[in-house]
Amino acid sequence: MKQIVLASRPDGAPTLENFRLEEHPVPTPAEGEVLVRVHYMSLDPYMRGRMDDAKSYAANIPVDGKMEGGSVGEIIASNAKGFEVGEFVMGGFGWATHAVAPAAGLAKVDPATAPITYSLGVLGMPGLTGWYGLTELGKPKSGETLVVAAATGPVGSMVGQIAKSMGLRTVGIAGGAAKCKMAVEHFGFDVCLDHRAYESAADLRTALKEAAPKGVDIYFENVGGKVLEAVMPLMNPHGRIPICGMISWYNEGGLGADAIEKTLTAPKLWRTILVNFLSVNGFIISNHWNRMGDFHKAVGPMIADGSVKVQEDITEGLENAPDAFIKLLTGGNTGKAMVKVI
Ligand code: NDP
Repeated sequence: MKQIVLASRPDGAPTLENFRLEEHPVPTPAEGEVLVRVHYMSLDPYMRGRMDDAKSYAANIPVDGKMEGGSVGEIIASNAKGFEVGEFVMGGFGWATHAVAPAAGLAKVDPATAPITYSLGVLGMPGLTGWYGLTELGKPKSGETLVVAAATGPVGSMVGQIAKSMGLRTVGIAGGAAKCKMAVEHFGFDVCLDHRAYESAADLRTALKEAAPKGVDIYFENVGGKVLEAVMPLMNPHGRIPICGMISWYNEGGLGADAIEKTLTAPKLWRTILVNFLSVNGFIISNHWNRMGDFHKAVGPMIADGSVKVQEDITEGLENAPDAFIKLLTGGNTGKAMVKVI
């Protein structure tokens, strides 16, 4: 079997030298475990944080440790009751062609219901993130205006499509003209702004004012940085900001040793939150897996009838995962990034 490990911690943006491909004998499942041949592996922005040694909401990957991640694959040997060879399962198998795992922690995936890749994207972790963050924390109401960046990615596109279906005006922000075209024509955003086309947050804000003439009621935070600075002064009273991610800052590493000082660098934002009565909620989706069934019930039919569209960006070969991951962090992906391993 092949696997990719963290060879060294990145200093800023990751490089290919931070990863190493290794070969090992295929492992044997112990009692209660299954052996899985991975078909598709997910690439997600959160993996960047796991490469640092800074404190975060989840443990870091040790140097020489296998890169973590969710994958979907086929059981090729089973030592667990109720899990048969030939069945497909989804789990945290990491960046690898094969993995053994306790069957109890795995979710079965039925290839007859939907393509198995959906379990990593539109019907999986990122889809749930968009749906949960919007509906539970964004509290959308018909007639309101929503802004979300990374609009063609699996989280942003879910947010935009669900918001649109609930009668909101949807303003997407994406990197480049082609992605903006896709945001409007494929995902149905009312309008999309290319953040790369604006030098400063102030310029982007001027364009946003036109795109959101009644102000912004929900800013679904995916990116931080220039987009956050542009949107914040446009928030309407009683607006909501689900804080999902801040990818524009991920390559700066974690908060590090001077964490206390760094968490206090934006006090003026505090006043904006006060005077506009904003609700700002950070969330991590792994605390809400119990909502997966509700999510599938709500969004499954919308995927089946075509009202929620899917866009996947599939890289061939495990050995190409580091390059695809590096590109994901700077917008080189178009749609849900994953690797076809088999
Ligand atoms: P995407 O597939 O959308 O990929 C990330 C995208 O971020 C890139 O394609 C790029 O899109 C955009 N981006 C990168 N750098 C910048 C920048 N400097 N400014 C603006 N946009 C940038 O990712 P996901 O949909 O998987 O994730 C979106 C966000 O949600 C991430 O921040 C992620 O960490 C977060 N997340 C949080 C979860 C949680 O539990 N809280 C769970 C899952 C995801 P473009 O080219 O359009 O700019």
